[in-house]
Amino acid sequence: MTRLIFLGAPGAGKGTQAKLMANLCSIPHVSTGDILRTAVTNQASLGLQAKLYMDRGDLVPDQLVVALIQERLNNHDAQEGWILDGFPRNLAQAEFLDSLLNEIDQPCDYVVNLDVPDDILVQRMLERGRTDDTEEVIRNRLKVYREQTSPLIDFYSKRKKLAIVNGDQLMDGVTDDLKRLIQR
Ligand code: ADP
Repeated sequence: MTRLIFLGAPGAGKGTQAKLMANLCSIPHVSTGDILRTAVTNQASLGLQAKLYMDRGDLVPDQLVVALIQERLNNHDAQEGWILDGFPRNLAQAEFLDSLLNEIDQPCDYVVNLDVPDDILVQRMLERGRTDDTEEVIRNRLKVYREQTSPLIDFYSKRKKLAIVNGDQLMDGVTDDLKRLIQR
């Protein structure tokens, strides 16, 4: 059974690798970004509330994402493992997740930090051209990452859960490193 949390700056390749590993392990890929984007497209109430924040590159309020993660992890298809991508993104979310995983008795195996230098991140995001990938919004997402998400590296390192994977290599190289990690 595999349970992984993917950390990493926007553009680090979390989404791509998380999806790949989830397919490989036949477990759900739980991406808060994907769930929120779907809600925006469907004009669901969650999407209407989240859009403003996403368009600016700010974090969506904790209460919205925390509720959706709780619901998603309680789903029956998530009882045999999962890969979390994009959650947690700040300390409050990490602490919420800690107690949720304790409560449902599903400890994560590793928190993977996909490590990529800043200049490569910006270049990659400009290339993928999502609607929230304009230069100004990208700059704000990186700032939000540095201020709110990167402290989680220390948080999980203290809990002896952190695995650092070099994200600045060919895609297959990253995947091979991840496969080696979960086979440990
Ligand atoms: P990226 O990591 O490339 O920035 P994501 O798809 O993970 O892209 O997230 C896109 C946007 O969705 C974020 O900029 C943020 O507004 C929102 N979002 C995703 N996950 C969270 C979360 N855990 N907490 C708050 N906002 C989130």
